[in-house]
Amino acid sequence: MITNADLLALDGKPGDFTVKVRKRPRYIDADKCTACGLCTQYCPKHLSDAYNEGLALTRPIHIDYAQAVPATYYIDPSACMSVQHDTCQICVPVCQSHAIDFSQQPEEVEIKVGAMVLSPGFGRIDDATLEKYSYGEHPDVVTAVEFERMTTASGPFLGEVKCFSDGRHPKSMAFIQCVGSRDLGCNNGYCSSVCCMYAIKEAMVAKEHDPEVDITVYYMDIRTQGKDFDKARERAEAMGVKFVRAKVAGVTPWGNNLRLTYSTLDGKHEFKPYDMVVLSVGLEAPKDAQGIAEMTGIELNHYDFAKTDTFSPLNTSVEGVVVAGAFQGPKDIPESVTQASATAGIVAGMLQQQRGLGIVHKSYPDEKPMDEEVRIGVFVCHCGINIASVVDVRKVEDSVEGMEGVVYHTDSLYSCSADAVKTLKDRIIEHNLNRVVIAACSPRTHEPLFQETLKDAGLNRCLIEMVNIRDQCSWVHAGEPEAATDKSQDLVRMAVAKARGMRPLPEQTVPVTPKALIIGAGIAGMTVALNLAEQGFDSVLVEKGEKLGGSLGLLNHTLDTHETASHLQKLVAKVEANKHIDVLTKAELKDFSGFIGNFSSVVGEEGGAEHTVDHGVVVLATGGHEHRPEGYQLEENSKVLTQTELEKRLAGKAKNRAPKSIVMIQCAGSRGDDLKYCSKVCCNHAVKNALTIKELNPASQVIVLYRDMRTYGYAEDAYREARLKGVIFIPYELDRKPVVSEEGKKLQVTFFDSLLQEEVEMTPELVALSVGIVPDGTEDLSKLLKAPLTDDRFFLEAHVKLRPVELPVSGVYVCGLAHGPKPVDETIAQAQAAAAKAAIPLVKGAVSIDPIVSVVEQEKCIGCGICASLCPFGSIEMIKVDKKRKAQTIAASCKACGICSSHCPTFAISMGGFTNEQIMDQITAFGNVKVAEPVEA
Ligand SMILES: Cc1cc2nc3c(=O)[nH]c(=O)nc-3n(C[C@H](O)[C@H](O)[C@H](O)COP(=O)(O)OP(=O)(O)OC[C@H]3O[C@@H](n4cnc5c(N)ncnc54)[C@H](O)[C@@H]3O)c2cc1C
Ligand code: SF4
Repeated sequence: MITNADLLALDGKPGDFTVKVRKRPRYIDADKCTACGLCTQYCPKHLSDAYNEGLALTRPIHIDYAQAVPATYYIDPSACMSVQHDTCQICVPVCQSHAIDFSQQPEEVEIKVGAMVLSPGFGRIDDATLEKYSYGEHPDVVTAVEFERMTTASGPFLGEVKCFSDGRHPKSMAFIQCVGSRDLGCNNGYCSSVCCMYAIKEAMVAKEHDPEVDITVYYMDIRTQGKDFDKARERAEAMGVKFVRAKVAGVTPWGNNLRLTYSTLDGKHEFKPYDMVVLSVGLEAPKDAQGIAEMTGIELNHYDFAKTDTFSPLNTSVEGVVVAGAFQGPKDIPESVTQASATAGIVAGMLQQQRGLGIVHKSYPDEKPMDEEVRIGVFVCHCGINIASVVDVRKVEDSVEGMEGVVYHTDSLYSCSADAVKTLKDRIIEHNLNRVVIAACSPRTHEPLFQETLKDAGLNRCLIEMVNIRDQCSWVHAGEPEAATDKSQDLVRMAVAKARGMRPLPEQTVPVTPKALIIGAGIAGMTVALNLAEQGFDSVLVEKGEKLGGSLGLLNHTLDTHETASHLQKLVAKVEANKHIDVLTKAELKDFSGFIGNFSSVVGEEGGAEHTVDHGVVVLATGGHEHRPEGYQLEENSKVLTQTELEKRLAGKAKNRAPKSIVMIQCAGSRGDDLKYCSKVCCNHAVKNALTIKELNPASQVIVLYRDMRTYGYAEDAYREARLKGVIFIPYELDRKPVVSEEGKKLQVTFFDSLLQEEVEMTPELVALSVGIVPDGTEDLSKLLKAPLTDDRFFLEAHVKLRPVELPVSGVYVCGLAHGPKPVDETIAQAQAAAAKAAIPLVKGAVSIDPIVSVVEQEKCIGCGICASLCPFGSIEMIKVDKKRKAQTIAASCKACGICSSHCPTFAISMGGFTNEQIMDQITAFGNVKVAEPVEA
């Protein structure tokens, strides 16, 4: 990892690039710096803290935040008196590690690489664009990024929402959407895609701080098109956040307050005073985008983001250079993470010949044999002020003094920061600890880090017990500090009791069958198969239909006018010709068993033939299909079409294929009716068809009735073009939905026009419904694979943000419409990500099994099979031992949920790390509030 560095040049060709990089001097030797922070305390100079958006001061010698990677301080040369004037150097003698090195010079290095991933993120909206909102003039007008830092617990305001002008807590706040987005005035005609969601989040955080604060979000369209995003808006509304559809003309200082002027849909101009105004600023192309383009040779689009193509969304115009994240176009975390995985997979395919070369395997010291003596170390974390602002951390730490087995205890500001992790390792060695209790945050996110530290210190990684005093104490009892502290002490005491019984658990690995089973052969499934094939892996592609291609076959072209049929044909031909891909059409999964690396499936063909496939991983790409809502005359009247049917008609040869008049109804059956969610693609689909109609017959009357036009990203260009070409867009509210009826022989649409403020009746030639997407057959697959679904019957990913293409069942991945509605380019990127993730166990050839699994004591087992019938992961099998039925755990697929253990009538099953004795010790400790007598030495 090279930080504090700039790209200078890229030369060469795919597989053989030379990258020139300039390393800027940090003036600190990274190998010597222990991140103790003493230097910052002594540095006499102040400067504005750029990391905290200038909301605080820092010193020239500093670290941006405690968990920064690498955890090494650096000196900002623009403010350092030594660098600027050759004076000061106070930090030099202060640093005990002798890490300060003012002799460092910029250094240019050349690196040989086979491929390049560009992920320089996004830039910031120019201050000039913000001026009309009095940004810079009045301190209580802040950007959403500044507000984010303000509400961050570890930020300069320690999470408190305060007016900059006088420090008071605001009683009224306005969020203004689309600042620097959807605005040709600043050349940002696109929608930044993320601002509606972050504004909702920030508004909810402000409400959590002060439920009485009056918050209004001023918007043009609320674009919460992501999976389950609309639920966030509903939650915000339930908390009292108001949403007003309006255009904000400006913000002006007004006495102590700010005055916001806006115009509503019905043409009224209004104003309202606010204590604070938050500008939902968009994501701009990175400032040095042009420079990056010059250095690498890649093309940029007209907004200066990397230019890519719908069908290869992550490939730049230079072969071997791919792009991920916001530089490809504004996007949120799950999509950025997805793209990052996808580019890793693409690069792995490009460099397949080099696989395995140059790998350095991490080595660990041998595990120390366990002494008889229990030696527990307790580490209590402040988590900045996340825990410490509520829980009395010192009191919690002091409470373990004298507890049986506890030989060492301490606290730390951030237990997960690099210096604290090093301290943990050092203390384990120094005090010969053989069990560790960490009272901090969630084991879900941090346990792997601490387990790794135990391994580095020569301990088995299962000798750790984490107590979540953040989520379970400081967060949920934020208003009751004493109770939160008491509860923290209880939890820590119980953890210590449990830790006494901890034993090392064995590490196991199982070999992986190097083949994938891919279910569904739409664009997603085919992309996965081709990507894996490129990496040298075989797959079996199972398609229940007659031919490959899925929903893409329904489309004639994409919004950016790519013709789909020829692309699909080429792709199908590529899949069929690939020797690594075995295609089974008119086939479905009939049976499924096994665990990651070792699955066995039965695939049945229509004629009755069955194939058993052994495979290491599964990718679900079963897609979706159009929903057909009731109540819009869709089945009754041939002049009512879905957008897909309209697209087909428009692509035909008939002379009158472009109607003289058409009304399109968005969200027909979606977002609250039969489907609760937004299908993400239908707004683009409507705009696409509207533009085609206008191209065929500019005189056609096209009216689109919508709730929010969700033409996010670059699709905003097409939305603007449609308006310029005369397509009329009229919003409607959920409680005043348009009604489609048949009057005589005429089709009639009645709706409430919010501009005219009256009911309007129209008799168009056609009505097109944007009907939404429903998943295909996910319920059956969910039962077979024991993979959970969302309420809307899409597959539920393991972690929305961090593991967006993995399912909770190890070795099972998801992409495309099976995961949630999305357009073609996002489907392809997600499929590439799923392939990249699925390739990991295939490349490794073996998977390590989590040591905490259920263990059956077969002497006690009476073979009743209750455990096998209850296990949600199919991880208990019944086998014959000496002619008797006995339960046995399939360790590789066991998720350690404990259901088997808690239901076994003979207590024959215990969980590694959670034995009955340990649980009993924990419960006993709960009642035992008195500190135990110290054990005699
Ligand atoms: C009505 C509609 C309109 C759309 N409009 C647009 C648009 O305008 N612009 C845009 O960019 N995107 C649009 N999309 C989205 C785009 O089509 C998808 O992103 C993409 O095609 C999804 O690909 P997929 O492979 O995930 O799913 P699909 O294309 O649905 O493919 C899934 C495949 O899996 C098969 N399958 C299902 N279940 C099983 C099973 N149990 N066993 C075996 N095979 C199975 C199916 O037969 C199908 O062939 C639209 C989608 C729909 C449905
Ligand atoms: S029409 Fe479709 S994409 Fe547009 S807001 Fe409604 S459900 Fe979402």
